[in-house]
Amino acid sequence: MIQFNSVSKKYPDGTAAVQSLDLYIREGEFLILAGPSGCGKTTTLKMINRLIDATNGTITIRDKNIRDYNIHELRWNIGYVLQQIALFPHMTVEENIAVVPELKKWSRAQIKERIDELLTMVGLHPNTYRGRKPSELSGGQQQRIGVARALAADPDILLMDEPFSALDPVSREKMQNDILALQKRINKTIVFVTHDMQEAFKLGDRICLMKAGQIVQIDTPKTIFTHPANEFVHQFIGSARPLTQEIMTAAQALESLPIADKKSGGRRISADLPLEEAIEQLMDDEQIEVEKEGQIIGVLTRQSALAYLSGVLKERRMYE
Ligand code: ADP
Repeated sequence: MIQFNSVSKKYPDGTAAVQSLDLYIREGEFLILAGPSGCGKTTTLKMINRLIDATNGTITIRDKNIRDYNIHELRWNIGYVLQQIALFPHMTVEENIAVVPELKKWSRAQIKERIDELLTMVGLHPNTYRGRKPSELSGGQQQRIGVARALAADPDILLMDEPFSALDPVSREKMQNDILALQKRINKTIVFVTHDMQEAFKLGDRICLMKAGQIVQIDTPKTIFTHPANEFVHQFIGSARPLTQEIMTAAQALESLPIADKKSGGRRISADLPLEEAIEQLMDDEQIEVEKEGQIIGVLTRQSALAYLSGVLKERRMYE
């Protein structure tokens, strides 16, 4: 659907934001662009709707170079949602959503019907919200209107740049769930930028993890989790690890510890035991042996488990 061929972007000041990027985004896919701040996610995203033009290489949508599309048509057919949604303050919700359909010269009746449909789709009752001004909406509601506006003219592609990162955790989780449900229903191709790996794991069909303008790994969340391509990926997803309980085991805590004494006597647990259960055992015993396939692979002590958890929490905070 969207194909990047050796795409690079160099800003006038010489910053090489994206370097020789090859990327194929499939039709109907939810693709996440992830990676640390400054790695080129937003630049990559904005090159799709030509808010930024590539310096080298080509981008095609449905096999046609994006430079060969009429720029207005290209943008109207690609929905765009930003972190700080910029609704027009003097316009009502209805007028805000109608902008692109009006540019596309849809009929009054068609636009009205579409607005009702979209407001319902994003969970806002049309009769209550149609006539409100943006200042009469909460942050989460404004963001919903932003999503509705981006979908207004029924684009095939939706670009989302950290759309939920300014929301409080509860609204954010709700929006994440809603966009997943919406995606199942309307089957758009979504390209979604986030620096939050938990969000990436939750939403993405595939995650494209970038570093310094290049792709480090592109894969399903599961493969990235279980087979990180290198130490950078491993470190980067570290922040999301603790929240995925089935993956956080006693063995994992051991992995990050200095080599411990392999014999302690006393109680034994399996390396696959979820960490929280291992920790429960550590309430009774100062230390426990961790066993894998009949071998003791290390000793988990109360102190080392606490040190591990503290590291994980610190790491997580870094990405919040
Ligand atoms: P991300 O979205 O991953 O944080 P960006 O795509 O915004 O990364 O930026 C990639 C790199 O390009 C960064 O080093 C950033 O400072 C630089 N950059 C972004 N926009 C500009 C610009 N208009 N002029 C010069 N450098 C820029």
